[in-house]
Amino acid sequence: MKVISRIKTIENILNKMNAPPYRKRQVYEGIYRQHLETFSDLTSVPKDLRAALAQKLGERVLCLTSICETQDNQADKVLFETQDKNKIEAVLMTFKPNEERTEDHQSLCVSSQSGCALGCRFCATGAVGFKKNLSADEITDQVLYFLQQGKVVNNVSFMGMGEPFANPNLFDALKILTDKDKLGYGQRHISISTVGIVPGIQRLQKEFPGVSLAFSLHSPFPKQRLQLMPVTKIHPIDAVMKALKDFVNETNKKVFIAYVLLENVNDSIDHAKEIAHLIKNQGDKHYLYHVNLIRFNPGSTFGLFKKPSTARVSTFRKALDRYGIKNTLRQGFGVKINAACGQLYANYERAVK
Ligand code: SF4
Repeated sequence: MKVISRIKTIENILNKMNAPPYRKRQVYEGIYRQHLETFSDLTSVPKDLRAALAQKLGERVLCLTSICETQDNQADKVLFETQDKNKIEAVLMTFKPNEERTEDHQSLCVSSQSGCALGCRFCATGAVGFKKNLSADEITDQVLYFLQQGKVVNNVSFMGMGEPFANPNLFDALKILTDKDKLGYGQRHISISTVGIVPGIQRLQKEFPGVSLAFSLHSPFPKQRLQLMPVTKIHPIDAVMKALKDFVNETNKKVFIAYVLLENVNDSIDHAKEIAHLIKNQGDKHYLYHVNLIRFNPGSTFGLFKKPSTARVSTFRKALDRYGIKNTLRQGFGVKINAACGQLYANYERAVK
């Protein structure tokens, strides 16, 4: 079924009513800037327009309903239900001030799909299977929800459920996020994490070259990566690295290589060495690659993998340092409420079964 977007519906209503052009701006201002929760709150426009909007789109602005919320001091997780009863999650993470920043920084991790078809072996979302591609409104309403709650959202990252480039609606969502009459984020405040869908990387380079990109590598060895991440068959490591090289050459932007450390699986010195080899082969701008290490969070994939010890993580990092590869270990917050990477939603599914 084709979903008519909120924006298209608003435009159709305004056209039908012969509304003057400034009405469109007023409606967008109310939704995306004032973060109004209902169309009745849109008092800057005439009553008949408010009624027409509510009649077509429903009284509430959002097309998502929050059905469960959990919080700890650094992660605020919301489980949403879409109108067709699929579940998705978004997590607002608070980063404390550091040497680069004097204030808290809030980054919202959004989902692009409900479930995921790509079946990475270590991922709870993959275990759920594919339910649907989210519409552009369902993606951007995750941001709008937190804004309606009065939260600050400095950054939006596509690291929640699903593979963003497997959803053709992603680019419409990016338009809404970056349009200055709508959510108005600068491209550099948005990041996309992909398992390496080459045409998606290429399209991003053309249409949104300012958006940050992270490639989830998780093993530098093709055979092992194929076992861990079946998508490697369609998009081999070499092809993805070539697409990243073009992206970096064209945009001069830093690219992140995300790497979930699984004990005794991909955390050996040989793995570190091969990651360094891949990055050093990226040409003159190899210094723009930065490895983001994530310690695997247990509990999401039925005991298949283990979290590596602090000592193993430290040895791995030292090896990367020795090879001159910039790396950071991502803060492991959110684990307590399953808000951490790869654990979205599966617990809810288990609970209702
Ligand atoms: S890691 Fe990403 S692409 Fe892989 S199964 Fe999980 S959600 Fe899908």
